[in-house]
Amino acid sequence: FTNSGSESVDTALKMAIAYHRAKGDATRTRLIGREKGYHGVGIGGISVGGIPGNRKVYSSMMMQGVDHMRHTLDMARNAYSNGQPAHGAELADDLERMVALHDASNIAAVIVEPMSGSAGVIPPPLGYLERLRAICDKHGILLIFDEVISGFGRMGTPFAAQRFGVTPDLLVCAKAINNATIPMGAVIAKQFIYDTITNAGAAGQIEFLHGYTYSGHPMACAAANATLALYEREGTFDQAAAMEKPWATAVHALKGTRHIIDIRNMGLVAGFELEGRPGKPGERAYEVMLKCLEAGVLVRTTGDIIALSPPLIINEAQVDRIMQTVATALKATE
Ligand code: PLP
Repeated sequence: FTNSGSESVDTALKMAIAYHRAKGDATRTRLIGREKGYHGVGIGGISVGGIPGNRKVYSSMMMQGVDHMRHTLDMARNAYSNGQPAHGAELADDLERMVALHDASNIAAVIVEPMSGSAGVIPPPLGYLERLRAICDKHGILLIFDEVISGFGRMGTPFAAQRFGVTPDLLVCAKAINNATIPMGAVIAKQFIYDTITNAGAAGQIEFLHGYTYSGHPMACAAANATLALYEREGTFDQAAAMEKPWATAVHALKGTRHIIDIRNMGLVAGFELEGRPGKPGERAYEVMLKCLEAGVLVRTTGDIIALSPPLIINEAQVDRIMQTVATALKATE
């Protein structure tokens, strides 16, 4: 257990490297991230992350031995896809190119968000995650899913891994683990990783020298237990799944609204990509956000994208209110 998504990311990266060393593969230290990836604000997370603004000031602090695959956003081929876009599975082959360049014997793990959130809602192309999994298996590279946003019902399933039918070796989570009421995150590892690391240490020694004072804090755990019980009792993930269709219909009904150039959605998440003002990235979306706020609806912007991630208990009337507010704000913005 950790206290945030960022800590969970750093923890998972360390577990990947510790696993390979415990197994006798000490040269496997290289980590692969992806452009547009967001993995929090720790040194590990910004190093494997791919959002330029989060990285540029800290160039000198970045971890060594990190590479990035290309991102999968392709508006030319995939604009207005409802759910997973049809094109881009071949981008997973970037990992093969990394192997060709560095040799698999030097690569510990690849980390991706199964659905990119912070860079502006980018669902994975059909077949992409399956291909990434297959390449990892072929070369003994660990696959890490960062499910800080997509975990705990956001995709209508407990984790995005289940939604997409692809199981990672390490899964990073936080946020909805306890409804974000108290800081908490976690890393879930496959049994073979746990066993390899714990069996490697001499008796009486700490096997994995890593942990935070507040890891598994009683209050955070109590909140998590209460939250998970509530999810189960109220069928919250099924509720989210049932709302996916009305959500998608309402979101795509905004196609053609002034300034919108792409709409992306998956589970209970959606992004409206706006045409940015020349030389003023993000300005238009920011104005739309302020107008929505004045009308009582809080939306998030990231660059020129309006990103929506409503509570899992949202109903259809509330979905309509959000969409009407966004549409009205867009029409009223120059
Ligand atoms: N990873 C992903 C995919 C996230 O979306 C976030 C936060 O939004 C993080 C990591 C970082 O989590 P935290 O802000 O709790 O450190």
